[in-house]
Amino acid sequence: MRFVEPFPRRRIRRALCALVSVLIAAVQDEPAVTHAPQLAHGVSRLGTESAFAVLARARDLERRGRSIVHLEIGEPDFPTPEHVAAAGIAAIERGETGYTPSAGLADFREVIADELSRSRGIEVPVERVLVANGAKLLLFLTILAVCDPGDEVIYPDPGFPIYESAIRWAGGIPVPLPLREELDFSFASEELSERLGPQTKLVILNSPNNPTGGVASAEDLQSAAEMILDSPAWVLSDEVYRRIAYDGTASSIASLSSMLERTVVLDGLSKTYAMTGWRCGYAAVPSPLVDPLTRLITNSVSCVPAFVQAAGIAALTGPQASVTTMVNEFRARREIIVAGLSSLPGVSCRAPHGAFYAFPDVSRLRIDAQQLADRLLEEAGVALLTGEGFGAHGEGHLRISYATSRTQLELALERMRQFLDAQLA
Ligand code: PLP
Repeated sequence: MRFVEPFPRRRIRRALCALVSVLIAAVQDEPAVTHAPQLAHGVSRLGTESAFAVLARARDLERRGRSIVHLEIGEPDFPTPEHVAAAGIAAIERGETGYTPSAGLADFREVIADELSRSRGIEVPVERVLVANGAKLLLFLTILAVCDPGDEVIYPDPGFPIYESAIRWAGGIPVPLPLREELDFSFASEELSERLGPQTKLVILNSPNNPTGGVASAEDLQSAAEMILDSPAWVLSDEVYRRIAYDGTASSIASLSSMLERTVVLDGLSKTYAMTGWRCGYAAVPSPLVDPLTRLITNSVSCVPAFVQAAGIAALTGPQASVTTMVNEFRARREIIVAGLSSLPGVSCRAPHGAFYAFPDVSRLRIDAQQLADRLLEEAGVALLTGEGFGAHGEGHLRISYATSRTQLELALERMRQFLDAQLA
């Protein structure tokens, strides 16, 4: 029997329609309707972290033989403590390489509940502890879990750029809360009060702060808590730099009366234990958020690998000497970088109280900060970021990560001095 191919009437009709639409568009001088696949509109709302873009440019220059000092990326230049890495390796050798519960392994969650309770003076029930692949994922998912289109979210400006990006992705309205240099990069209570209202779904706080190194005082947090308790807002307290504080302990808003019930207390292994690549963050979350956040984890990344959680248990329960050593070294580097930057012509720099970032004011120079950063990279071989990449209130500043060796910091300062002297000559 001969195979008779059916008459492809539908295909011809489709081709004719396409041809007609192209002809009509040509006549009307409009773009033709095509069947090219389209991206979601939301994609254009996603921001990024300039650190990764500048790092890529710097690496490209290095491949072409240039010497670059890296002050752009925010990660400790210390190795993961040996006993922590060993715990992860031992878990792999025991065969702990399968899926785990999305909320995290019970043993790890218990250790985290103890740590959060002890360090913040609060009582965190283990059921309210969640583990995820980095604090960044937990903050992104928290914003998705609470923010409907049109909801307002207050966040620090300058601040970690992923806050604004995630708010926009969720369709929310970003409401920047200025961190004022004259307040040592804390916020003014009146400015929080002006922004807070029935329309506020979430308030994001970050202390110690990236990029300014500012630490909110206990009084600032107390007045913020009082205002927030008078509103319907949840709080996301990003405390990933809590252990890197130079002038006393950084307070948590969750320690204040009634705040734990509405606060996501966010911390992680990345900064404290030099574990950025292990990808592990954790949080104590209000009861109503446990199930939605767990589902979001199940729907996206499933879980954190068991061997990473084993390393996490070792990090939180083992010796803390490596943290002390690292923070002491950052403190010494802070002295070098602040003194060095302040001695450059046209530059002033406050001493940061936490994290490992300096945020010098370069607005008195006759060159715009973005141009300055570009030229320092291209001409002087110093990779750093502009404050503007962290929000409009970062304008006229640079962000410098001093999580690099003293020798590299001295070299960067020397190169910056030579560059600025040549400009001003
Ligand atoms: N929050 C702040 C303020 C940060 O600066 C960073 C990383 O730079 C993160 C969260 C994300 O940390 P993680 O590596 O745990 O995702």
